[in-house]
Amino acid sequence: MTSWQESRRDSRPRLSRLAQPVRALAFPLIIILSSLTSCAQSPKPVAPTSDIPVAAASAPNPHNAPPPTFNSARAMQYVKEIVTFGPRPIGSANHKKVEDYILAHLKGDTVESDSFTADTPEGKLPVHNITAKFPGSRDGIIVVASHYDTNYPLRNTSYIGANDGASSSALLLEIANQLRGKKREGYSVWLVWDDAEESIKPDTELPFLSDSLYGIRHIADKWQTDGTLKKTKAFILADMIGDADLNIERPQNSTPWLEDLIYQAATSLGYQSHFFARTGIVGDDHVPFLERGVPSADLIDFDYGYNNVFWHTTQDTVDKLSPKSLDIVGSVILETVNLLDQR
Ligand code: ZN
Repeated sequence: MTSWQESRRDSRPRLSRLAQPVRALAFPLIIILSSLTSCAQSPKPVAPTSDIPVAAASAPNPHNAPPPTFNSARAMQYVKEIVTFGPRPIGSANHKKVEDYILAHLKGDTVESDSFTADTPEGKLPVHNITAKFPGSRDGIIVVASHYDTNYPLRNTSYIGANDGASSSALLLEIANQLRGKKREGYSVWLVWDDAEESIKPDTELPFLSDSLYGIRHIADKWQTDGTLKKTKAFILADMIGDADLNIERPQNSTPWLEDLIYQAATSLGYQSHFFARTGIVGDDHVPFLERGVPSADLIDFDYGYNNVFWHTTQDTVDKLSPKSLDIVGSVILETVNLLDQR
């Protein structure tokens, strides 16, 4: 993930968390936050955990479909296998290994590769997006995405991005397992492992998000040109979703009705306490789709260790993660897809 600006927080003390990573890492500060007052006046309903009636946790699935299944042990195994490749920045041999690893797990699926060369502050670098398509009976597409590259500036360290890069990439592999070989009575689901999400040179003075999101911006442009975007009903991003202490944010720069639907899915599964206690502005892969008018949401937990201390450090390792968190996010995404099918 690229940047985060908090605008509302829950009762836990996190006094300097947002200013700290942005300033310390000199990220481009692109979006200026509205004041806390105006955020408080936001019409967006952010439901604090404590306001949710206990009964909601066991609310029946509104469409009487069986609850989604998600093999969290297998997803966790994928995380462990991905991080064994080591740092996976774009243009590296390790990156090629994770690319091949993802493609090997999609053997037999309909896969589209999107390869190009990105002009970055460090020169030209290769970018490879991977899309797996699972067709449905309804006209329209639901996109679920995750970046799979790891932080570029840390490429010569032991940084392995267990949460930031591996967790959501593994999550999508397991979602593919759940979609494969089943007849979808609903929209087509396209899973996108996008590349070059991370900033290449965060300390350069470039316009907001122009030195990041290389892969997903390329896809958004391409799909705008070929008409795919018009058919895209929703774009759901997963990023940093493996933290054992799972607190998914509710970004302000997302589509409110889609976030409401995600919250409804979480509530129907009894997982709502992990969702939406905090909101802010997030610079992440959903932005290019949101800007092009596609309903978009970003499932991200930007509270990774106290004060987000593990983010973009060599402390981002598997021992901080939990298969339960993968299960929660994976199941909620699958349930959200079910709810979208019925809209
Ligand atoms: Zn990152």
